[in-house]
Formats: sequence, C-alpha cells, structure tokens
Amino acid sequence: MKKTHILILFSLLFPATLASQTGAELLKYVKQIEGKTPEGRKQFIKDQLKRWKVRYQTMVFQTNPPFRDSLIKGENIIVPMGKGEKKIVVGAHSDAVANSPGANDNGGGVAVVLGLIKAMGDYPWNYKIDFCFFDKEEDGLLGSREFVKKYKDRENHLAMINLDVEGMGDEVYVGPVGGGDDNFIMPIVRRAAKRTGRAFTERATYPSSDHVSFANAKLENISVSVVPKGDADKLVGMLSSQKVDAASFPQVMKVMHTPHDSSTYMTSKALGISFEFTKTLLMLLNESK
Ligand SMILES: [Zn+2]
Repeated sequence: MKKTHILILFSLLFPATLASQTGAELLKYVKQIEGKTPEGRKQFIKDQLKRWKVRYQTMVFQTNPPFRDSLIKGENIIVPMGKGEKKIVVGAHSDAVANSPGANDNGGGVAVVLGLIKAMGDYPWNYKIDFCFFDKEEDGLLGSREFVKKYKDRENHLAMINLDVEGMGDEVYVGPVGGGDDNFIMPIVRRAAKRTGRAFTERATYPSSDHVSFANAKLENISVSVVPKGDADKLVGMLSSQKVDAASFPQVMKVMHTPHDSSTYMTSKALGISFEFTKTLLMLLNESK
C-alpha cells in the first residue's frame, strides 16, 4: 500500500472533524427515553454511556425540600471530560413530571447532551467539563442544587450551560440575560449565534430551570432552548403577567407537563439546531481565555 493510501485510510478511520450527531439520531434517543419510569430514564442514559464506553459518575442524594413532608431521593449522572484549571458545566435535567412522557421536557435536552458527549469525546479540551444529567428538576431544581452544594470547582467555574426544551421550532432562545452572572458567557453565545446563522433571540426573562441553582450561588450560567418563532415573547409575557389567552399562550407549553408531551410534536430539525448551536458554543468557549 502506498503512503498516500495509508494516509487516506487513516483519515477515514480517524477523521479530524468531530463525530457528528444528526437530529434524526437525537430524536431516536428521545423516543427511547419518553414515557419511561424515573429509574428507566436514568438507566437509559447509563446504558447509552456504557455502550459508548464513556466513564460516568453518579451523585446520589436525598433531601427534604422546603414545604414537603417527605424525603426526596435522586441521582445525578455526571460525565467528566477534559483537563485544565477552569471548569465548564453542561446540564440537562433527566426527570419528567409525573403522568407526562417528558419528551420535549426534557428528553430533548438529554438527547442533545448525549449527542455532545458522543461527538466531543476526544475533543482537545482546554478546560475540564462536566456533562450532567440532573435529577429532580421538576421537584424544585433539587439535583442541580445538590451539585452546586458539593461543587469543588467553584473558584474555577467558567460557565454553566443548561439545556431545557429543545425539540420544537427553529429559534434559539437564550436567557435569562443580565443580572451579572452571564457577562463572560453572553458575548460567546452571540458569536455562536452568528457562526451558526440560526434565528436567535436573547431575553432577560427565562422560565425557571437548573441554571437557577447556579445563579443562586452567583456562578456564571445561561439556558438555551429551541422554540417556535414568537414563543420567546409569549413565554416572557406569560412569566410577567397572569393574563394569558389562547393567542398569547406559548406553543411549547401546550403539551409540556401534560400526558401529551410526546416526541410526535418534536422535530429532528429542532434537536439538530440545539446540538449544532451548543457544540459551536462549547468550541468557542474552549478557545476563550
Ligand atoms: Zn424542563
């Protein structure tokens, strides 16, 4: 075999570009996670990581949240990667509300984080990165709160990127912007928006999710969703006033937290946009000092 042939073979076997994940592949993960029991959802993530031979840690916790009589048990799944002094956290909550299949909320976020783990496994990270599947978000952000409580890299925290609701529409909605805990990450988010060329909107208001646990500890954070055009305005409107009629009700909320939150309402395009945007954001973040 000629040297050039060997080189071509080598680059076919070990492409310099990152392994990619198509939106269709991501939607397949959602179809495998939706409707499962809380334990089944976590087991699916673990099985997938084992299949890819990806090392993960678990953070088991039990907590007595305010205004509750009973202890709530949960388990975060964490995939540590990279090396360096500073730390990036990427998170998606793995749990769903009871009686909902939990496809868009938040099987989609789980699928995108799984895709990133698969695609960026051998990325030349300049930083440590924890890909997290937080448990019990729907019970009051308990998993992410537990993670922050035990967070050893607080002094070296660079940014937390939260993915929640990724599977409908084609507009990237980022928030909550402002408040002093996204001054570093937001310019990089805007560059990622420019580079991907996707419809993009940033808002001061964003629904509560795991980013809040980091915000409460004054740690840099941002949330990223993919929603139908117009939904960002409607979500902001809904969060800032009590009066919401049918016309101003956000599309994504129509099935969220209901028995109808199934993958049939999601698209591979939306998941692909979320994946591409977040991957670009992580690559730009990795280049930043
Ligand atoms: Zn959610």
